[in-house]
Amino acid sequence: MRPYDVIKKKRDGGRLTKAEVNFFVKGCVRGTVPDYQTTAFLMAVYFRGMDEGETLSLTMAMRDSGCTLDLSCIPGVKVDKHSTGGVGDKVSLVLAPLAASAGLTVPMIAGRGLGHTGGTLDKLSSIPGFSVDISLDRFTEILQNTGAAIIGQTSEVAPADRRLYALRDVTATVESIPLIAASIMSKKLAEGTDALVLDVKAGCGAFMKTYKDACLLADTLVSIGRGAGKKMAALVTDMDQPTGLAVGNALEVKEAVAALKGEGPADLMDLTLELGVHMLRLAGVEDDPKKARAKLARLIKSGAAFKKFCEMVTAQGGDAGFVRDTLKLPVARETFTVKSERTGFVQHIDAEAVGISAMLLGAGRKKAEDDIDPAVGIILSRKVGDKVRKGQALAVMHVNDRRRFNDAEGLLREAFEIGPTASEKRPLVYKVIG
Ligand code: URA
Repeated sequence: MRPYDVIKKKRDGGRLTKAEVNFFVKGCVRGTVPDYQTTAFLMAVYFRGMDEGETLSLTMAMRDSGCTLDLSCIPGVKVDKHSTGGVGDKVSLVLAPLAASAGLTVPMIAGRGLGHTGGTLDKLSSIPGFSVDISLDRFTEILQNTGAAIIGQTSEVAPADRRLYALRDVTATVESIPLIAASIMSKKLAEGTDALVLDVKAGCGAFMKTYKDACLLADTLVSIGRGAGKKMAALVTDMDQPTGLAVGNALEVKEAVAALKGEGPADLMDLTLELGVHMLRLAGVEDDPKKARAKLARLIKSGAAFKKFCEMVTAQGGDAGFVRDTLKLPVARETFTVKSERTGFVQHIDAEAVGISAMLLGAGRKKAEDDIDPAVGIILSRKVGDKVRKGQALAVMHVNDRRRFNDAEGLLREAFEIGPTASEKRPLVYKVIG
């Protein structure tokens, strides 16, 4: 078999066998398939797509390019939640300890932010001492003792994904459903979970801009997971405006802590509880959604969820004093309020523009090697449907470097669409699969 033949077959719309996919993935990890052939293959997949069987073969080959965790030493069901990425999405920070406080084991391998989307690892890294670069042995130990841990993708986990993702990023081949699905699921299947709840975002702040594409991605992810023997559920949720009010790393940790105490913004609380209900259901802890929601709400009210978060922070080397008193977290030097130029209702907030504005302030990365400023970001003062008068605040920018301010401010101002009437509220969860 030659890489050339695999590329040619896919270029001409052929269906690749498991052996052909394995051969190709192994070759790109070992270096026997050069980058120019790998990128030709990626472009062929981008245009021709892959069917369910091919996508599953690609996912398994990518998963098996590295280690898979065996968590059978931990009793009970292991359940994770994964989001396809959005703006202001700090749900993992709340949900991992919340689900662990309900008795689940939550092994979460999360990502860093790139472009307009924030990353769970960057948010947690704004807590002094918190380490996301933890060995798989230590990860297992923390899970055994604490029930929840959130770490980054180590070099042992799905190395094929690292290679392929780096090439996709520079060859305009990221936005392909089989490639996205295989990339996400290769890492998730390596985690050793029994069940997975997916939060597939749809809207201007998401990878999938349309509901139709988000549903297609959700179906593909669920079918891969089931094909690999995992219990799966996927929620297609709204990312047409940021989740919650805070966008930026330490600002989002503060909001996550508020949510763990039951004081978070309504959409963040709702989404977290909704995803938690499905985690409890898949784990066989509680089938009745109302009872599951009430159980999670009780764990928040009693302080058990927040206590679990503090335990997780300490286990990962972080100083829990910074989450007990979030005023100690990094703070930007200055704040600027973006005010509305007219009276009316907020009809739309372009989540992608808000994410890029926060990134320009230093909360995110333009390139993978850029540094993050944990203190900067944006707090929205108004969300879609809210009334605003001329001169009232739309958002507050937290700024450390004035040179970055102008572009970020212009973009943020334009992200708000103000109209004379209140637009219809969009549902938070569009669809549940599985
Ligand atoms: N997240 C991933 O892990 N991979 C993708 O391709 C897109 C989002």
